[in-house]
Amino acid sequence: MRKVIVQKFGGTSVADTEKIKNVAKTVIKEKENGNDVVVVVSAMGHTTDYLVKMAKDLSPDPSGREMDMLLSTGEGVSIALLAMAIQAQGYEAVSFNAMQIGIITENVHSKARIIDIKTDKLKKNLKEGKIIVVAGFQGVTEDGEITTLGRGGSDTSAVALAAALNAERCDIYTDVEGVYTTDPRIVPKATRLDEISYEEMLELAHAGANVLHPRSVETAKQFNVPLRVRSSFKTENLGTLILGVDKMEIYKPVTGVASDLSQARIVVCDVPDTPGQAAKLFSSLAKEHISVDMIIQSYARKVSNTNDIAFTIDSSDLDKTIKTLDSLKKDLNCGDIQVNDNIAKVSIVGAGMIDRPGIASTMFQTLADLGVNIKMISTSEIKISCLVDKDDAERALKALHKVFELEGDETAVVKGDLPDV
Ligand code: ASP
Ligand code: MG
Repeated sequence: MRKVIVQKFGGTSVADTEKIKNVAKTVIKEKENGNDVVVVVSAMGHTTDYLVKMAKDLSPDPSGREMDMLLSTGEGVSIALLAMAIQAQGYEAVSFNAMQIGIITENVHSKARIIDIKTDKLKKNLKEGKIIVVAGFQGVTEDGEITTLGRGGSDTSAVALAAALNAERCDIYTDVEGVYTTDPRIVPKATRLDEISYEEMLELAHAGANVLHPRSVETAKQFNVPLRVRSSFKTENLGTLILGVDKMEIYKPVTGVASDLSQARIVVCDVPDTPGQAAKLFSSLAKEHISVDMIIQSYARKVSNTNDIAFTIDSSDLDKTIKTLDSLKKDLNCGDIQVNDNIAKVSIVGAGMIDRPGIASTMFQTLADLGVNIKMISTSEIKISCLVDKDDAERALKALHKVFELEGDETAVVKGDLPDV
C-alpha cells in the first residue's frame, strides 16, 4: 500500500508566489518518492495579522463568528495558489477547504477543537493520484458554521489529518531548521535537537516555545504520529523528529528552556476559605474557554479565614478574564482583584529530570545569583516553571541554558541515529 505523507507549510513558506513555487517543488519531490501527499498550508505571510488588524479597526470587540468568517479566508487564498503552482509543474492537484472535506470541530469560535475528519473525499482523490492541498486553521461545525482552531492552528490541522489518514509521518516545514534547546534568536548558542519526545515538546510548547501549536503535539502524541519539524528553505536537512519518549536515549536532565512573555497574572484576594470557591472561580473561566496555567492558593489566614488565589492566563484572554471575574466578584464574596501583565514564565523541560534530585534547586539558585525574584513556581514531572518580571526573562533564560549545559559546543542532547521513518 502507498504511504501517506502529510506536509504542512506555514505562512512564511508561502509568503509570495516565488516561495509558493518552491513549496510546489518540495511537494512534488515527496510525490516522486512514491508517496501519497496531502499538503496543509497557512495563510500567506502576515495575512492573518492583517485581517485581525482590520477587524480591530472596525470594532473593539468583534464577534467570534465574524472573526472566524474573516480569518478563515486567508488559507482559502494560499490553497488555491499552491494547487495552481503544482498543476503548472505538470502534476494533478486539488485544493479543499475544511467545509468541503468535513473537518468537524466543536461549536466554539476562535479556538475550536477538531472532533472528526471525514476521509472519503481525501481517499478518493489520493486514489486518483492527485496531490491534495488542504486549508489549515479552519474547521466547520456539525451545523455548517465556520470555525478556526486558534492562532498557529494549521499545525494541528496537519497532525489531525495525518492521524485520520493513518499517515506515515507529518512533516511541519517552517522557517526554522528544527526544534532548538531554546529560542536561537535570544540565545545564539542554542543547539538543534535531533529528537525530542512528545512529552517534552508539549511542555516546551506550553512554556512558550513557539515552534509548534501545542495542540498539534497533543494530537501527535495521542495518535502516535511521528512529527518532523524541518526547514522549508533547506529541505535536505531532516530537522527534529518528535516521537514517543520510550524510543529515546536520554543523557541530560534538561532538554530545553523556554520563556513565555504573553502571560498575565491575576490574584483574587481574600477569598472566603469555604468549599466550592475555587470550583466556582475556575468553572466560570472554563465556561468562557479561558485556559488557566499556574495556580496557587495561599494558606488560609486565621483571623479573616480567607485566602488568596493566584493564577496565570494568556494575555490575549485578559479582557475576557477581567469581565468574567467582575461579574463573579459578588458571588465569590472576595476582596481586590489584582492584575499584572508585566510578567514572564521561564521554564526548564526534560524527561531526564524524573527521579534526579537537585534540578529545581539549581534552577532557583541560578535565578537567585542573578538577583531575579521568583513570583510563582509550578512543576510537572518533566518541567519546572518560574514566574518572573518580564524584564528579567531574557537574562534568566540565558543563564539557565548555560547552567544546564545546553550550549553549542557541548555534545548533542540526545544521541543515537535517526530512525528511518
Ligand atoms: N494563519 C493562521 C495564523 O496566522 C494559522 C497558522 O498560521 O497556523 O495563526
Ligand atoms: Mg505556525
